[in-house]
Amino acid sequence: MGNFKDIITQLSNAAQTPVQTQHPMSQECSFRIGGPARYFCAPPSVPALRDCVLLARKLRLDYFILGGGSNLIFRDEGFDGIVISTQKLDSILIRPEGRVDVGAGLSNSALTAATIKNGLAGFEWASGLPGTIGGGVFMNAKCYTSAFSEIVHAVTALTPEGEQVHLKHSDCGFNYKCSIFQTNSYILTQVTLQLLPKNAETIRQRSDEVRQDREQKGQFLFPSAGCAFKNDYNIGVPAGRLIESCGLKGHQIGGVRVYAQHANFIINTGNGRTREVLELMALMTTRVWEKHHVRLEPEIRVVP
Ligand SMILES: Cc1cc2nc3c(=O)[nH]c(=O)nc-3n(C[C@H](O)[C@H](O)[C@H](O)COP(=O)(O)OP(=O)(O)OC[C@H]3O[C@@H](n4cnc5c(N)ncnc54)[C@H](O)[C@@H]3O)c2cc1C
Repeated sequence: MGNFKDIITQLSNAAQTPVQTQHPMSQECSFRIGGPARYFCAPPSVPALRDCVLLARKLRLDYFILGGGSNLIFRDEGFDGIVISTQKLDSILIRPEGRVDVGAGLSNSALTAATIKNGLAGFEWASGLPGTIGGGVFMNAKCYTSAFSEIVHAVTALTPEGEQVHLKHSDCGFNYKCSIFQTNSYILTQVTLQLLPKNAETIRQRSDEVRQDREQKGQFLFPSAGCAFKNDYNIGVPAGRLIESCGLKGHQIGGVRVYAQHANFIINTGNGRTREVLELMALMTTRVWEKHHVRLEPEIRVVP
């Protein structure tokens, strides 16, 4: 594989940015938990990201694509490979008739600001949702009865071999909190959204309402990764209610706790560990199974 310094130089050249070593992933994730990545970088362009991925593959180095880090947790031992952040792929191009091309690393909050500025409706529901557009499409994030699948027109992605592909909405395999990208290892680089020209003040008001609702629910008072488990709509009872009915609100293991304000949130009280999150999730799963015979499906992704 070559010596350590040589690898860092090669990776930095490919990614067109200095590659950091032993980078604490707790700094990159909303949970503020997780061990270090052996290598970490944020390439400034799609060709740089592509070259970085191709070099990692050539060096037989595991790689992981990071969006905003708001739906995942890295193990305490860290990641023995390279974490490649999309944060610098944050372009935005407003086209006629409500079409918007955005870089996959653009944050939801930056897009919300742009929709208000440009009078484009259809993204208000995602106001205050942490993360990036790429992560939102990958997860098909959903809130306030809307989801990314409703506004995605097309996606541009890289295959693991570095080939650029274009996908229509119907190619994206959207379902509840699910997309084809969860199984095909494509890297989203750009998303075309279909929004609707409308009065900017109305958009601002609705966006503010949604964000304030999240604030009032205390979602930003403690580090977390949002809901720990998906809801099962066949059952008709949200996962949080099922967990609450097992008396688990406030249950704490080490530095992590089932949030008293929302039983489907696990919060980091300050010095939480990934193994404690996993232990708490296992307990929640067991208790809900014993009481309701419902198998909770994790929403938080554990890396690796
Ligand atoms: C306080 C709080 C509230 C939340 N509320 C909600 C909510 O209401 N509804 C909801 O659905 N979620 C919610 N979440 C979870 C999270 O914000 C969303 O799932 C978000 O869309 C994840 O985006 P991200 O950019 O942070 O993705 P990340 O967490 O960085 O990544 C998630 C997955 O997507 C992959 N990925 C990211 N970008 C790309 C890319 N460009 N190409 C390929 N793969 C990629 C990653 O590899 C990873 O597997 C909440 C989280 C928090 C902390």
